[in-house]
Amino acid sequence: MDKNLEQDSQETNQDGIFICPECGSKNINTHLKNHSFKYGIGDDKVKLSTEVPVRICGDCSFSYRDHAAEVLCHDAVCRHLGVMSPSEIKALRKSNKLTQSQFSEITKLGEATLSRWERGIVIQNEAYNNYLYLLKLPLNLERIRNRSGSIEVTEGQSIKQHEGKLIRCVPVGSPRFLAVK
Ligand SMILES: [Zn+2]
Repeated sequence: MDKNLEQDSQETNQDGIFICPECGSKNINTHLKNHSFKYGIGDDKVKLSTEVPVRICGDCSFSYRDHAAEVLCHDAVCRHLGVMSPSEIKALRKSNKLTQSQFSEITKLGEATLSRWERGIVIQNEAYNNYLYLLKLPLNLERIRNRSGSIEVTEGQSIKQHEGKLIRCVPVGSPRFLAVK
């Protein structure tokens, strides 16, 4: 059906209008097509497939995939890995009516890190993914949000919050005299 091979391209839209990266035409049609790709290395390599939009220029017949397809492929990788996708992370934050900055302030996740997860630039590791999973329960987010002052961490230790800085108190039984440089 397509004269040209599908090619990956970033040049897709300008003010929401799709523009052909080959001829500059705005006469672009979108078709959904199944796209298969390999993910991983060595023995872990797997073939994943997902339905993605393919743009076809009505004037020069050039066909290509753009950022929207990349996002869907990234989602397929997240499903394969069993981790939350960028859109799910964003939905978690937005369902709590929080900006990235507010969500970071409450969870202590780095704002830049959160932004990279939401844009699909990096995928969170399993520990972070578990943390995000727990935050999906409103009660957990609420508990973190309401946490203030001093909290017990482990026996003999406590963490005090002072002007946003965490100060670990010296546990009982630690050396009384510390070398001074
Ligand atoms: Zn064209």
